[in-house]
Amino acid sequence: MYARVIVDVPVADTDRPFDYHIPAPLHPFVRIGSRVSVPFGPRKLQGFVIDITAESEVEKTKDILDVLDVEPPLTRELVRLAGWMSERYVCAYYTALQSMIPAALRSSYEKLITIKTEPDIHLLLSDEQSFYQYIRERQPVSWDKLLKQFPDAAVWIKDGLEKGYLHVEQVVGDRTTKKIVTMLTPSVAKHELDKIKESLPTSAARQKEVLDYFTRHYGPISQPDLLSRLQISHQTVNRLVEKGVLLREEREDYRDPYTGRTFLPVTKHPFTPMQQEVIEGIAAGMADDVYFPCLIHGVTGSGKTEVYLEIMERTIAKGKEAILLVPEISLTPQMVERFKGRFGDQVAVLHSRLSHGERHDEWRKIRRGEVKVAIGARSAVFAPFENLGLIIMDEEHEGSYKQEETPRYHARAVAHYRGNYHKAVVILGSATPSLESYNQAIQQKIKLFTMAQRVGNRPLPDVSIVDMRLELQKGNRAMFSGELMNAINDRLAKNEQMVLFLNRRGFSTFVMCRSCGFVTQCPHCDISLTYHRSNRTLRCHYCGYTEREPETCPECGSEHIRFFGTGTQKVEEELAKYFPGIRVIRMDVDTTTQKGAHERLLQNFRQGKGDVLLGTQMIAKGLDFPNVTLVGVLAADSMLNLPDFRASERTFQLLTQVGGRAGRHEKKGEVVIQTYSADHFSIRYASKHDYHGFFHEEINQRYVKGYPPFSRLILFTFAHENVALIIKSAEAFAKKLREILPPGAFLLGPVASPIARIKDRYRFQCMVKYNHDPSVVSRIHSLVRKYEEERKKSGMLLTVDVDPYMMM
Ligand code: ADP
Ligand code: ZN
Ligand code: ZN
Repeated sequence: MYARVIVDVPVADTDRPFDYHIPAPLHPFVRIGSRVSVPFGPRKLQGFVIDITAESEVEKTKDILDVLDVEPPLTRELVRLAGWMSERYVCAYYTALQSMIPAALRSSYEKLITIKTEPDIHLLLSDEQSFYQYIRERQPVSWDKLLKQFPDAAVWIKDGLEKGYLHVEQVVGDRTTKKIVTMLTPSVAKHELDKIKESLPTSAARQKEVLDYFTRHYGPISQPDLLSRLQISHQTVNRLVEKGVLLREEREDYRDPYTGRTFLPVTKHPFTPMQQEVIEGIAAGMADDVYFPCLIHGVTGSGKTEVYLEIMERTIAKGKEAILLVPEISLTPQMVERFKGRFGDQVAVLHSRLSHGERHDEWRKIRRGEVKVAIGARSAVFAPFENLGLIIMDEEHEGSYKQEETPRYHARAVAHYRGNYHKAVVILGSATPSLESYNQAIQQKIKLFTMAQRVGNRPLPDVSIVDMRLELQKGNRAMFSGELMNAINDRLAKNEQMVLFLNRRGFSTFVMCRSCGFVTQCPHCDISLTYHRSNRTLRCHYCGYTEREPETCPECGSEHIRFFGTGTQKVEEELAKYFPGIRVIRMDVDTTTQKGAHERLLQNFRQGKGDVLLGTQMIAKGLDFPNVTLVGVLAADSMLNLPDFRASERTFQLLTQVGGRAGRHEKKGEVVIQTYSADHFSIRYASKHDYHGFFHEEINQRYVKGYPPFSRLILFTFAHENVALIIKSAEAFAKKLREILPPGAFLLGPVASPIARIKDRYRFQCMVKYNHDPSVVSRIHSLVRKYEEERKKSGMLLTVDVDPYMMM
């Protein structure tokens, strides 16, 4: 047998499969989707098996050296999907394959074998008996060592694993991938907990607390978790274990970060007529087992998540699996709880804040079919289910679904591909659908469902727009308008909470000399440095360059050099100045780098430990706080002025999302948007909650200017230290590009990129604009391959971004 292998040399001339012979001992383990180690020239490289054949067209093939996993990490479908991605996004096949497996598997690790249950010795051949004897005496034994000792071992290992005699553990680095946890479970019935509590002396207050806890959350919890929650000691727990009230056991466990948390089963509401209609509509599509893509356009709070839960339940009832994609920042414990509450252990969560090992554990549950639901951000779209019935993409308009490194895929496109392959339901959900998706819905390429009202007909918040130019004319130089100040004072008096929102961390917090206008720039990138108050430094957000805050202007020597603009730190100071005693919880990249910091800050806010939640993008969505009645947007414009055809769309989406945070519960909400472009249509429509108005105006503009969805774009970015070389090279490439483009496709540029230099490398870009002709991408793919040699020689970096999201 032969395997067709994609090896880890992601360059043009080797980006194709190579044939290798599968030696007999490895037969049982080499499958499509396996990772193998193969000889390649003088080197030993990793590769993925993408096909298995009886014959090889090549005359002399080398042997596969080793297989890296017991179970192939990728499925046949994912192998195909990687092939498609490599074509669609102009990237190496290997890179696409690699992006689908968890990082833990990308590093080296060992497979260790132990005996799980003793086999019936009479059923074993004598060689096999000594094989077991060998393991018994030395366990754990590494896989490689076993194979060296017993050349036939592969078959026995496979057999032993299938029959449950053997156990294999993959050890990543120096950590084993499994963990032991101590679990506590009540060993008496729930109603008896109270009786026991009453029988305890008053001095046992701590023990009573524990019993109270279990009355509220009846079920197992990990010991460390209980200790930290109730702030109690081991002794307290020991007493209860001795009394036989609690059962303590060591459990070998996946490092599920939600282990030990009891998720209360969520009570189902009767559906609103609107929800019912959407559910029936999707269920009808589901019944036929066909690819059924649809878009739910539903305002925040319209009950979309309940619809997701219901469709998911029906999918599982059919014996199929479901993926839920959410933007990374919406993947909060709160959100996961809703799904764990309904589906319990059937849910795996792929979270970027998990350690590599934790992520691997979750992923393995999916691969082994131990769970039915995978929840995660972008890359969870590759969850290796084999019987996929449903993919939900919540907040489908979110930019974070596009990966900004190779392979530069969009999770929405991958979701459609997989939905098509599995004949599955694909639900896109959003309060502000992307222009592309809504346009598809209008053209009836995907089905549209609309949920226009909030559950219980709670009103959408009142939105007022404050023109900051007028504020300035009135002589108000503060960053808060009169209206916003009044609103903040009002909330402080009423003890209600507010969210203040700034477009981007330190977006305009630059240092400028008031005498000569000098702005401090990064010496390596053409971008101004951002001021960080906490350690009085200036930092470059592109390359990390840091310098101390200057005391005098490096240009003219003036002392009137100071920082400008409205970073979150600056706002925090201003708040303290205008509203003495105000309690601010600031959430930005600086305050949330630590693991768990994000959740902790939100938890504090929820518990009322702050009046204001102040932050950037990361507070804009997914959060749901009953006591928040005011949302303020400090400067709605900063995004409008970016050189990007999606600027209006992003502004509209962001303002709508932010507004959705207010008044989701009994109390009515209010939104104040401060802006210097009060008459811009995206701000006007957002303030009226008018998606349709916005859509029609924006789609017209796209039509007139020939932007997506009326065309498609491919962005090429060149980067090199030598500016003369880059111009020459980009122009030569552009010339060749023009020659291969079919009629109807145009090339724009090359020109200097909006950020013309990053990390000392100059950047040039050019853009192909074309009309959906699929031959364009394949022509470009072969051109890029041909260009590869030349590019490597000159050290030029070239990135190709198909359907780009960032134009910088
Ligand atoms: P969305 O996902 O569209 O923002 P959710 O599904 O989160 O909306 O619903 C908003 C709120 O309304 C939630 O608190 C949810 O529990 C509640 N809710 C949803 N559906 C119903 C229903 N049929 N009856 C009562 N409450 C509901
Ligand atoms: Zn100066
Ligand atoms: Zn820099």
